[in-house]
Amino acid sequence: MQPKFIFITGGVVSSLGKGIAASSIGLLLERMGLKVSMMKLDPYLNVDPGTMSPFQHGEVYVTDDGAETDLDLGHYYRFTHSPLSKKSSVSSGQIYHEVLRRERKGDYLGKTVQVIPHITDEIKRRIVDCAAHSDVILVEIGGTVGDIESQPFLEAIRQMRYEKPNSCLNIHVTYVPFIKAAGEVKTKPTQHSVQLLRQIGISPDMILCRSELSLSEDVKEKISLFCNVRTDNVIECADVQHSIYEVPLTLHAQNIEEKICQMLQLPSQPINLTNWQQLIETIRHPKGVITVGIVGKYVQHQDAYKSVFEALQHGAFANGYKIEIRRIESDRFDESGAFPDWAHGCDGYLVPGGFGDRGWYGKISCAKYCRENKIPYFGICLGMQVMVVEFARHGLGLIHANSTEMDQTTPDPIISLLEEQKLVTDRGGTMRLGAYPCLLKEDSKAHLAYGKPQISERHRHRYEVNNKYRPQLEKAGLSISGTYEEGDLTEIVEVKDHPWMVGAQFHPEFGSKPLEPHPLFRDFVKAMIERKTAC
Ligand code: GLN
Repeated sequence: MQPKFIFITGGVVSSLGKGIAASSIGLLLERMGLKVSMMKLDPYLNVDPGTMSPFQHGEVYVTDDGAETDLDLGHYYRFTHSPLSKKSSVSSGQIYHEVLRRERKGDYLGKTVQVIPHITDEIKRRIVDCAAHSDVILVEIGGTVGDIESQPFLEAIRQMRYEKPNSCLNIHVTYVPFIKAAGEVKTKPTQHSVQLLRQIGISPDMILCRSELSLSEDVKEKISLFCNVRTDNVIECADVQHSIYEVPLTLHAQNIEEKICQMLQLPSQPINLTNWQQLIETIRHPKGVITVGIVGKYVQHQDAYKSVFEALQHGAFANGYKIEIRRIESDRFDESGAFPDWAHGCDGYLVPGGFGDRGWYGKISCAKYCRENKIPYFGICLGMQVMVVEFARHGLGLIHANSTEMDQTTPDPIISLLEEQKLVTDRGGTMRLGAYPCLLKEDSKAHLAYGKPQISERHRHRYEVNNKYRPQLEKAGLSISGTYEEGDLTEIVEVKDHPWMVGAQFHPEFGSKPLEPHPLFRDFVKAMIERKTAC
């Protein structure tokens, strides 16, 4: 079967949750027995988001093959089983980079290189390439219709529809605001954004309306009439009550998957969502609530630790609990080394990944507080390095131990660069990226969690635990429970005499799904529950 293409555009405002809508549709189509691929097209000129600040762009999601990608790929991973790789996240920067590389090589000799057809051809080539081996691909176009930047992408999908009229479908996600003063919802922004789409030659087949409240039939009919879309293809997607994982059920209640299959002439079969419905039941009726403190410097940004927040939720679902997240800004601590009173009171603490020295001392004080008071602690990437530095300082007595990322003159560089990283000058795509195997020590907490001796996890960092200090650390009670044998690198550390204090050099959060929670997150949550119920 030739793959079918579903293009998802967004209108009116950004942050509509297009990625979640696309992922939810992906999940439903997958449950109909189709092989689904997901793809994101981003209009910015950075080659990838790896060089962008989390404040600007939110989390950078990493694939097994080491691509630094848009965070929507994280949603795709959590909702579907789509293959995700370098091919799945494409930016304008990558497209221009490739076209200009070919131009310099002389591939277009004699021709004027233009947005149409050269840039649009390259966009179409990438979409078709990513769709190979799937029944259907959902292609989400970043940004909002009307942006200058996204025009080449929209033009490319217009051409694809023209070339493959029976294989393409356009879904437009819009916002239908409720105006309090008037006491009614307004369809005008939706009408205008569909007009913008139609000006460039794209007529949506389906409109997905994000709104605060459910839409009446009248409103749907109005949108249908003004936007030239059948009323039953005006789908409502009102804010969900408990969790984003309810969105697939909202869409399923309107038979969206059957409508899509019909329009694309895809084979359809009855869908079974029992385990998803059970998941939502667990979310709606938790046995109890725990609170985790996230100590980091980007905590106030909604999306900077997206996958960490989601993986914590998955860990809580697995234990039948609800988890509340307290955001603790580590740069608000003073340098005295004390964990401030206002940050106390959580059932456990997690220090996530990060770069640079802002808030570094605050993170060390958190690790010290958790180690000394036997409070569950989970350190991810930088959070693991924090844990090792803290242990070296206060467990080993190397009081000036540090990471060379924070202090290049430290007498005890417990975390440092590998020789090959010292030679790197470019910032983009030069970290240790993607999946590496890791061997687990028997009887460790990590081994207990994973239940197997070898795992594979994704990385995104430059610095490593300095091997020179390994024997000392182990002797003093910091177990190196996971290693990458080939490179002789430390991947997981645990404090031996502690209920649950674990640090991972990799990013386990990228590999967690609501129905397949990551084992380390599941056990971290379990340790928090045990502490809370014992207190
Ligand atoms: N800054 C640290 C490093 O590069 C940690 C990176 C991270 O947490 N992703 O090694």
